[in-house]
Amino acid sequence: SPADIRRVAVLGATGSIGTSALDVIARHPQRMRATVLAAGGRVDALLQLCVAHRPEHAVIADPALYPRLRDGLREAGLDTRAHAGDEALQALAAGPDCDTVVAAIVGAAGLGSTLAAARAGKRLLLANKESLVLAGELVMAAVREAGAEIVPIDSEHSAVFQCLRSCRDTGVRRIVLTASGGPFRGRSHASLAEVTPAQAVAHPKWSMGPKISVDSATLMNKGLEVIEAHHLFGLPGSRIDVLVHPQSLVHALVEYVDGSTLAQLGLPDMRTALAVGLGWPERIESGVAGLDLLSQGRLEFEAPDMDAFPCLGLARGAMEAGGTAPAVLNAANEEAVSAFLQGRVGFLAIPALVEDALAALPAAPATSLEALLQADADARRVTRQMIEHRSPGGAPATPPQDARH
Ligand code: NAD
Ligand code: MG
Repeated sequence: SPADIRRVAVLGATGSIGTSALDVIARHPQRMRATVLAAGGRVDALLQLCVAHRPEHAVIADPALYPRLRDGLREAGLDTRAHAGDEALQALAAGPDCDTVVAAIVGAAGLGSTLAAARAGKRLLLANKESLVLAGELVMAAVREAGAEIVPIDSEHSAVFQCLRSCRDTGVRRIVLTASGGPFRGRSHASLAEVTPAQAVAHPKWSMGPKISVDSATLMNKGLEVIEAHHLFGLPGSRIDVLVHPQSLVHALVEYVDGSTLAQLGLPDMRTALAVGLGWPERIESGVAGLDLLSQGRLEFEAPDMDAFPCLGLARGAMEAGGTAPAVLNAANEEAVSAFLQGRVGFLAIPALVEDALAALPAAPATSLEALLQADADARRVTRQMIEHRSPGGAPATPPQDARH
């Protein structure tokens, strides 16, 4: 009956995760439909999605684009109501027109709607890992207090979530998150000085948005994921390991005290994790083919190179420091990645800027959202200043002489 239909808000609908989520939703018209679609600035892409999925509400983050959205919906003959801005987004994420929220906005910009959905007790399909890095304790407390249900979408965390459901969550010795190693696996630190944004976003295994692609190339993504796993599964950093696995077929492993290790495997396609979240506790079709291990041939594993990729260690350090440190790490990284993508700083400036921001803004205790948002704002200001001083005339920081490979 219509009352049983899952009503899904897809936040970040025009992005890589958002379009994958809509692909899965469209395969199950009897079980679920997209009732709210939200995007940042790509209003024409959002309008196209509205034509295809006929949601009840469409939200564009940038208020200047509201007239274009409203008029475009009307011209297309749709009943979809237009909204703009973060307040409208949070109200819809918490409101009665959805029971499930796919949180797939990129960066700290996703925190407000993630928190709103958690506080409203929704089923929260969380892809936006930055909100857990920035305010993990607050998000998880809101989930507990409101009785919300969080299903991780990040592939590694979906894998852990699936493995943990084999029995009660007791007796976990450690979890292991796998990393593809990104496009620069096997390279030395110095040889990365002159890599370009185009090389950095060309991920060998996953097709993703530009920010997370750069994070995968620096291994900051895995650092953010260690912090994410700490909040989702309640384990200290010392029991969350990282293993490089170039084939990206084993997504994570859970080791138990009895010596048993469970792993989740699958092709690198985010629709599997999205189908787990959308269908849970039932398994539903995702459009992803099964895994043919015979044709894959080989599964390899190696330790991450902590010298070539300092971001993983920086993230672990920020997690241990606690308080405002993860918020500073995340904000400095967002600013540094954005400057790198714009060609304003080199690739190695990303870990250097994050390290300098963490040194400039020592960890302070933070229990309130205001304190964390202040740390986020301070880190962005400090990092932007350092970017300007680093690159007079917009040139990347001078690479070492032996930088060419
Ligand atoms: P993307 O860049 O492809 O898409 C980002 C989406 O967020 C777009 O729809 C954009 O319009 C929207 N957006 C940006 N700023 C916004 C704002 N201020 N308000 C509202 N909407 C805004 O990114 P993606 O690769 O889909 O990643 C989204 C999130 O999922 C990230 O947190 C990422 O770390 C996480 N994630 C992605 C993947 C993947 O395979 N792509 C895997 C794991 C986790
Ligand atoms: Mg991941």
